[in-house]
Formats: sequence, C-alpha cells, structure tokens
Amino acid sequence: MIYPIYLDNQATTPIDPIVLDSMMPYFYEKFGNAASSHHVYGQEAKEAVEFSRNQISKVLGAKPREIIFTSGATESINLGIKGIVEQNDINRCHIITQETEHKAVLDTYRALEEKGVRISILPVDSDGIVDPDLIKNEITKDTVLVSIMHANNEIGTIQPLKDIGSICLDAGVLFLVDACQSFSKLSINVRDMNINLLAATGHKIYGPKGIGFLYVSQKSPKVKLKIQIDGGGHERGFRSGTLPVSQIVGLGKAVQISDKEKEKENKRLEVLRDKLHLAISDCHPEIILNGSTSKRLPHNLNLCFPGLNAESIIMKMKGVACSTGSACSSANLKPSHVMKAIGRDNELAHSAIRFSLGRFNSESDIVKAIDIINNAISLLKERRKNRNKRIS
Ligand code: PLP
Repeated sequence: MIYPIYLDNQATTPIDPIVLDSMMPYFYEKFGNAASSHHVYGQEAKEAVEFSRNQISKVLGAKPREIIFTSGATESINLGIKGIVEQNDINRCHIITQETEHKAVLDTYRALEEKGVRISILPVDSDGIVDPDLIKNEITKDTVLVSIMHANNEIGTIQPLKDIGSICLDAGVLFLVDACQSFSKLSINVRDMNINLLAATGHKIYGPKGIGFLYVSQKSPKVKLKIQIDGGGHERGFRSGTLPVSQIVGLGKAVQISDKEKEKENKRLEVLRDKLHLAISDCHPEIILNGSTSKRLPHNLNLCFPGLNAESIIMKMKGVACSTGSACSSANLKPSHVMKAIGRDNELAHSAIRFSLGRFNSESDIVKAIDIINNAISLLKERRKNRNKRIS
C-alpha cells in the first residue's frame, strides 16, 4: 500500500522514534506498578513517572505536584470543568467560554447546562479571536470559571491568553485553558498567564495516544476539584487508576524534544506552510484563508475552495491525507461550528479543508502535495464548468 502524504498533524501525530525507544523498557524489564513502593520494580516505575512529571511542569513554569496524569485531554477537560462546577452550588454556577472551543469542552458544557449551570458562549471575530473585554463584561458574582482554548484545532487561531488571564485574576475567577494544540509548541507559562487549569495530550506532540495531563494550580490559588474517578487515590487523590508508566515516560520524552526543538521546528513548518499556501493561491486565486494571518499556529493552513465541496476535493486527492472541518453525523453533514463562528456561510463552510504540517513532513512532501492538490482542484473546477454549461 502506498500511503498518502500525511498533512493531518492537528488530528494526531506519528510517534517520534526517539519517544518510542524511551518507552520500550517500561513494557517489559521495568514493568512495575508505580504504586508498589516495596521493591525495585515499583520504585523504578515511580522514579520514571516523577521524572516525566518534572519535565512537563518545567515547560509550563509549574510545580511537579500540579501535574495530574490522565488518559488524554478529553478526560482532563472533563475533570477540570466538572471538578470545579461540582465544588460549587450547581444552580448558581456561571461559566464563560467561546464559540470555537473543541467539542470536548462544548459538549461538557452542554451536559452541565442540562443540570442547571448557566453557560455564556461568547462570539469570536472573523479571525476566530475572542475579545477579552467581552469576557470582562460577562463576569458576574456567580462566575466560577472562564475557559478559553489556546490555539484552535481547525483554523489554528491563537487566543490572547495573557490578557484573559489577568482579567480572571482581577475578578477572582478561575481560568481553564485547553492547550491541546499548542502545548510544547508555543511558550506557555501558567504563572505569567494566570492560568489555573490547563489540559494537554500526548498524541499531538509526537508522543503516545491515551495519555495526557491536567495542570491544577496548587498555590495562589489552591484549586480544589470534585474527584471524578474514585479508587486507589492515585495522583494525590485527583485521579485514581494504575499509572500507565510507559505512556507517561513517552509523554515526558515527547515534551522534552518538542520544547527543545519548537523554535526551529516552528520556523521550518511556517516556511513550508506558506509555500503550500502560495502555490495553491497562485494556481487558484479564489481560495480564502480561514483564521488569522498573524495569530495562527505555524503548521496550520485552513482554506475555503469557493464553489467546491470539501468532501469531493478530498476524494479526488487521494495522495494527500488532510481533513475537512465538517462533522459528519450519519446522513447529514453539518457545517463546522468553527466556520460558522467566523462568519462563513454554509456553502463556504462545506468547502473548507485543513492541512496541518508536522515534524516528519519534508520539503519534497510539500512539493508533491502542491501538485496533487492543484490538479484535483483544477479537475473539479473543470467538471463544474462543464456541468454549468450543460445546465445553461
Ligand atoms: N481539545 C482540542 C483543541 C483538540 O484538538 C483535541 C483533540 O483533537 C482535544 C481537545 C481532545 O484531546 P484527546 O484526543 O487527548 O482527548
């Protein structure tokens, strides 16, 4: 089988071989349970877990004990949000978020809304940026949490976290950040940005799947959460369950590599991303860029192809693996909520494709991808022209 060129790195990344190597001993020789403190197997496992926790906390400017390992960002987000809400009187709880959050956040709020929690979902501008003043004006005495993602998974837009963090600090409201798409790619300092809770995951940073973490501030303020998983009291009681040591080791290694390489890698990917964009727009000047030109992840390119359907484009360019922004629900294709939030009409929203580049994409991948994409678009435009001719 010939695999297509992988340009879907915001969906997930391949594991870095160095990360995989670091994990291997923890499947066999060093297989111990990190909670078994009475023998060397358990002690070695615990040491490896703590080493990884230390690496993650350092990158965030946090303390190791503020990092709680989970199965991924969806679990971290659920623990953070529900953990805060259930600490409060549910009927007097108010939360502020914004329209382009990931479903892991929006669906969690939807579930809480049914239980009586009041949720304000703020609009974004045409670049996908939320205005911090809107957040400030929305805060009431019942507001317990503001939750804003760092970078968007579809259009890569980067939110003004520092400004939002200082508004939350002044108002005495907790601030939760979904940093899945930005963690160890962009600089984050939880103290400088006044972030109290932060969720991230291994599989977006060339680490393993099924592992993530929640940062929970333990000092000024000490954040308390209602526990969501009861059991053996692992992770200082925040999240019970035997720790997946191999995955945690892999996550730590992935963070170490990404953090060290991020500046160089971001520059390289930005150049390749811009080359891809320019080559498509040279050939098809009608394309529309989604998201901000300046406040955007360097590896994200989300384009609308007016008059065409994203699903048909993807079917035509089998040599490139990328994704549409549309969520397919059985028979009906709903336009992406992100596209709607930035003001795209249904037709344009259905024409949007996300290309996301990654560490293992070479320049020659991009050159080949340009050819495949441009040819597919030309072919579909030609077909549309012929069809329109026949109709008229
Ligand atoms: N939040 C964002 C912005 C994401 O991109 C993703 C993954 O697609 C998630 C949350 C969920 O992460 P996980 O797959 O680790 O549960």
